[in-house]
Amino acid sequence: MTADITDLMKKLVSLCKRRGYVFQSGEIYGGLQSSWDYGPLGIELKKNIENSWWNFMVTTRPDVVGMDSAIITHPDVWKASGHLKNFHDPMVDCMKCKSRFRLDHIKGDTCPECGGPLTEPRDFGLMFKTQMGALEDDSSTVYLRPETCQPIFVNFRNIVNATRQKLPFGIAQMGKAFRNEITARNFIFRSREFEQMEMEFFCLPEEAEKWFEFWLDERMKWYYGLGIKSRNLRTRRHDDSELAHYASSCFDIEYTFPFATDGWGELEGVANRTDYDLKAHIEGSGQDLSYHDQISNTKTVPYVIESSGGIGRTMLAVLLDAYREEEVEGRERVVLGLHRNLAPIKAAVLPLSKKLSENAMEVFDTIRPLFPVTFDVTGSIGKRYRRMDEAGTPFCVTYDFDSLDDKKVTIRERDSLEQMRIPIETLADKLKDLIDNGWPEEGI
Ligand code: ATP
Repeated sequence: MTADITDLMKKLVSLCKRRGYVFQSGEIYGGLQSSWDYGPLGIELKKNIENSWWNFMVTTRPDVVGMDSAIITHPDVWKASGHLKNFHDPMVDCMKCKSRFRLDHIKGDTCPECGGPLTEPRDFGLMFKTQMGALEDDSSTVYLRPETCQPIFVNFRNIVNATRQKLPFGIAQMGKAFRNEITARNFIFRSREFEQMEMEFFCLPEEAEKWFEFWLDERMKWYYGLGIKSRNLRTRRHDDSELAHYASSCFDIEYTFPFATDGWGELEGVANRTDYDLKAHIEGSGQDLSYHDQISNTKTVPYVIESSGGIGRTMLAVLLDAYREEEVEGRERVVLGLHRNLAPIKAAVLPLSKKLSENAMEVFDTIRPLFPVTFDVTGSIGKRYRRMDEAGTPFCVTYDFDSLDDKKVTIRERDSLEQMRIPIETLADKLKDLIDNGWPEEGI
């Protein structure tokens, strides 16, 4: 990593801790490597990303339904899907500095850390297993799901029967997945416990490529909608050597993660998984998982277009994209320019002086039930603005001595630093309008 990159990641990780976005798990005990806890602002940002995905992929679509499966899964699911046999990565160790790498993450045959020689590649199983019940033998072995999509395939028939969905239609799920990654690093980009957002779209085989293009397009729209700069996003087709054994075509959606070796890192995969998974579970379970078209009285094993992204990676991309340092009125400030829809706190109420706390609190109480808002009275007004800029709060509402007489407050916008003074009685409506539609472009 170059100094700039290390610097940017260090600054972001430090901001995340300082403002309560992300903490290292078990920090007071020295920290569990690559395990992360989300703090008060982190959980709000994460929920906003999750809600945005669910809304875009499920709620607003008549042709996609949701589900939420168990994390501890029947071992036969992973036997049939091929995970027990295939889900491992070749790893190599540096014989000099003892660092460990995934073979496909390094170029050349010397250690990227110290230039030392590497061992021959060895397979490393990625599934976490545990025991269910009192007996500790092979018969009680179960697995934590390494992806959220297999339970979707396993529930295909249940969902068709329950919902009467007709082809083409999708099933979506988001939630925890677990992989014992060889090298988990780069903050929340790669951890061993993470969250996925996946949607499997079932369609006729002859329509699969059409739907593949449709979903790739839709998924890019979603990332743009989060406010990520378009120049920092791209799609990349997998070449034949990269294609997973189940996929007939696959594109990665990538972001310019600063630590990525060629400048781009995966946010999401969009793949044509063919009928591989349903057929595997038909064979594994002996059950009929084909789709029965009542009108033509025909049976098909549908093809599947998959959209498979990670919540942690999306959150990291959103945070990196929003982070900036700038000089304002001769002073440095750090800003998280989060899109207002994603910002964990929408507005902060700040009394100019402690003496005004009680009056400002009355204003705060009128908007508190309506939006995620905060009240801050500690430190100079400049310091409080900086704190809110770093937290990504788009609007600050200042109550000053004039407010006592004119019953007005000043709203300050995070990025432009423009201000408007408005009657307190209109504050709730004004903030709602600003949160929904943004700051008026023509200014005030
Ligand atoms: P990579 O090549 O980076 O290991 P992958 O191709 O194995 O990723 P998939 O199996 O396609 O990943 O998983 C779908 C998505 O889940 C990824 O695009 C990523 O956003 C997320 N994801 C996968 N593994 C991890 C992890 N260890 N930590 C965080 N997110 C992950």
